[in-house]
Amino acid sequence: MRHNFGAGPCILPQEVFKQASQAVLDFKDGLSILEISHRTPEFEAVVAEAVKLVKELLNVPEGYSVLFLQGGASLQFAMVPMNLLSEGQTASYLETGVWANKAIKEVKHFGKANVVATSKEANFTYIPKDFSIPEDSAYFHFTSNNTIYGTELLTVPVTKVPVVCDMSSDIMSRVIDVSQYDLIYAGAQKNIGPAGATVVIIKDEILGKTTNKIPSMLDYKQHIDGGSMYNTPPVFAIYVAMLNLRWLKSKGGVAEIEKENIAKAKALYTEIDRNPFFKGTCAVEDRSRMNVCFVMENPELEKPFLKFAEENGMEGIKGHRSVGGFRASIYNALPITSVHALVELMQEFAEKNQK
Ligand SMILES: *Cc1c(COP(=O)(O)O)cnc(C)c1O
Repeated sequence: MRHNFGAGPCILPQEVFKQASQAVLDFKDGLSILEISHRTPEFEAVVAEAVKLVKELLNVPEGYSVLFLQGGASLQFAMVPMNLLSEGQTASYLETGVWANKAIKEVKHFGKANVVATSKEANFTYIPKDFSIPEDSAYFHFTSNNTIYGTELLTVPVTKVPVVCDMSSDIMSRVIDVSQYDLIYAGAQKNIGPAGATVVIIKDEILGKTTNKIPSMLDYKQHIDGGSMYNTPPVFAIYVAMLNLRWLKSKGGVAEIEKENIAKAKALYTEIDRNPFFKGTCAVEDRSRMNVCFVMENPELEKPFLKFAEENGMEGIKGHRSVGGFRASIYNALPITSVHALVELMQEFAEKNQK
């Protein structure tokens, strides 16, 4: 049995794979989900249900729109300033890793980025705490979970300016108060569904203020007016996301999965802190519940441990090249039994290598 700790695309529930593959063969009257028009009532119902499930699961208040777009979170790095910033204006960003950095890079096409704080000097192993957000910022942007470094910001920084969040790797993993945000975006491939769709949750009233000329495909308003079907949407990706959101609802929703996620993270960090062969890479108070990064006290043992773990069913635990060591991504669909299996291997490895 393989335990999939991959960082993204990542594990989804087996039952979702079964249902999705069935729909490839026969979605409706013998027709595949891959061959029907996105304008059929059947597919329109899929989009409607997917949007409804996002709203329900995250308790999205009135006045917000939910979109399923393409281009990944990376396109949102540019769409956000294009839609929310005007020339001569400044947007504030918290720099907590590679993804935040890539988002910052795109701002220069539309205005100025003001980095309120960074943890770059420490290879992003913590979340900066003391910073102030200038009140004349067009918006404030942060990354809630830093997938590569394994840090997570569970609270929303206090500010009067609109708040934009890249929630790609922890959306749907914990209860959030959407009213604290003005725009949330997330590439689907970590907790929502397969790659190919991007979820955007946007407060309608923040739109329509920029003086930028926006191409239709990059204009949130066009996509809102088109109900996420301004053009052909990623039909299959949305369908599988809808199935996965149904699964999440059937599990008791976000509050229930959050309890499991806390238990999984606790089990793994407890072992990392207890086992003298391993150590965490991040500030304890900023540790992510989704991506657990750790190294070995003796770096020479990292290769042997990786080999041992892979031979024993572990998939995707090699750390990102900019951190090294190991990263276990423990997204919603990963069962706690997989975490227990990894913990056992860590213990077994330590025993074997003890003098
Ligand atoms: C994976 C990830 C991205 C990149 O998403 P794409 O859909 O590949 O563009 C951006 N931000 C965060 C926090 C991520 O985890």
